[in-house]
Amino acid sequence: MSRLVQISILPHKQEDQNYILDLAFEKARLRRSDIKDWRIRKRSIDARRAPVKLNLQIEFWLKDEARVEIPPFVPKEVSEAREIAIIGAGPAGLYAALRAIEAGLKPIVFERGKDVRARRRDLALINKEQIVNPESNYCFGEGGAGTYSDGKLYTRSKKRGNVLKALEWFVHFGADPDILVDAHPHIGTNKLPKIITTMREAIIEAGGEVHFNSKLTDIQVKAKRVVGITINDSEHLKFDEIILATGHSARDIFYLLHKKDIKIEAKPFAIGVRVEHQQELIDSIQYHGDSDNPYLPPASYALVEQIDGMGVYSFCMCPGGIIAPCATEQHEVVTNGWSPSKRNNPYANSGIVVSVAPEDLPNYTPNDPFVCLDFQKQVEQACWEAAGKTQHVPAQRMIDFVEKRVSSSFPKTSYQPGITAVDLNQVLPPLLVDRLRKAFVRFGRKMKGYYTNEAVLHAPESRTSSPISIPRNPNTLEHVEVQGLYPCGEGAGYAGGIISAAIDGINCVDAIVTKAI
Ligand SMILES: Cc1cc2nc3c(=O)[nH]c(=O)nc-3n(C[C@H](O)[C@H](O)[C@H](O)COP(=O)(O)OP(=O)(O)OC[C@H]3O[C@@H](n4cnc5c(N)ncnc54)[C@H](O)[C@@H]3O)c2cc1C
Repeated sequence: MSRLVQISILPHKQEDQNYILDLAFEKARLRRSDIKDWRIRKRSIDARRAPVKLNLQIEFWLKDEARVEIPPFVPKEVSEAREIAIIGAGPAGLYAALRAIEAGLKPIVFERGKDVRARRRDLALINKEQIVNPESNYCFGEGGAGTYSDGKLYTRSKKRGNVLKALEWFVHFGADPDILVDAHPHIGTNKLPKIITTMREAIIEAGGEVHFNSKLTDIQVKAKRVVGITINDSEHLKFDEIILATGHSARDIFYLLHKKDIKIEAKPFAIGVRVEHQQELIDSIQYHGDSDNPYLPPASYALVEQIDGMGVYSFCMCPGGIIAPCATEQHEVVTNGWSPSKRNNPYANSGIVVSVAPEDLPNYTPNDPFVCLDFQKQVEQACWEAAGKTQHVPAQRMIDFVEKRVSSSFPKTSYQPGITAVDLNQVLPPLLVDRLRKAFVRFGRKMKGYYTNEAVLHAPESRTSSPISIPRNPNTLEHVEVQGLYPCGEGAGYAGGIISAAIDGINCVDAIVTKAI
């Protein structure tokens, strides 16, 4: 058994190992000669008051204690093993495939998009030519929405063991081991593609298969059991188990399930705008004026307010980040955010979104599974029209928005396709704008300086989570009506980010294995 001790230091002392150890030894009442080994187990920033401090948890092993390292990923050779189909190569699908390999099952992954490298060209087309490839974009392709995401690996999942396993696999496949230590781990968009590629290579090396440009277009069900799938409308394949991990943007999958009478349900989600400030301003607010401290990372923030009966909150804040065009169709616009591992862009962006339930919506009728998705689509299309029917997004300075004035100029934006000045109050539904206006004023009271006309709103932030869930049995994880169908990850409503999607992929394979026993 190792022992743990907590210490708190000033940020500039973080590279002084002797200082850290002396402090930790004193606190643990140990001498250096008692110790065989040590490491920093957790690291977090405490910016609640000045001066900002680093909290460290130090783990020691005494001379007579064994430090046991368990290999995080132990593959089996599965080329001749029982096959399972995994639809979608996002975090949920990839982790399901890796788990299948550990469990002795052969994963066959079908992904509608391209491999990470080929996908990059399609992202350039969106950014530079305003062209959206509906099969290959920021949401579709190898690694799913996770590949060109920000790679923040925090999750609200409370099962520490599962979270640690998901993080350890990231490290095993090439991520910086610091993600196991940091309270708010972050990989960065520049590092993710290589890690995703290494995961795919491991799947293939163990005998699994990964097929790109392979879109699921039909599912065959007989006597309430899955019996097969169709790929690209042409290839019919027999499978008894399908893990359906197609993400929140695969609207065609929701329409397919509904058409086939496979139950889906409307689900609460969140929608709003993406706000961009200068990172220096956010650093100054969060670090009590200490904005150019070289020992502190670019600061983030988390804000939440209850306004007129609905939650309004910050979502996926990206310090040092870039606003990305995340549409999956030509006739819509969608924003999200990413940042490189160094978070060294001069901008700080975050979604500011309103939590919306099916019953809140004007077109609500009970049992309509598409009420939230239709609302999401309307907002995305209205923004596309308002900004000129390209990948430009409608934009407004923050105070101009609150005071309902079209902005006459803008500071430089990180959103590459471009922005168009509009009054967002005329473009977004009143349900959203009335609450967003109040929220920005209140956020400004919580974070002095946040409410500023130097901040620019980009609309819409609309793909925060799935507007539909695919109901499953909580014990078997199979669809409530169709055996052998495992709705998985964010698109099915069981995850809200990279780590929770990855964990859900693992859980679905474990459910298949348990069923077979
Ligand atoms: C720009 C951006 C930044 C983000 N930043 C973060 C972050 O910092 N931290 C975080 O936790 N989350 C972040 N997210 C969200 C995160 O990426 C998702 O929560 C996560 O990827 C969901 O995983 P998933 O596997 O369930 O679905 P997805 O990642 O959406 O993967 C689904 C896959 O299924 C494929 N697919 C869809 N339909 C079909 C079909 N019919 N046949 C075959 N394949 C199909 C898609 O092409 C896709 O590859 C970000 C997302 C974006 C877009």
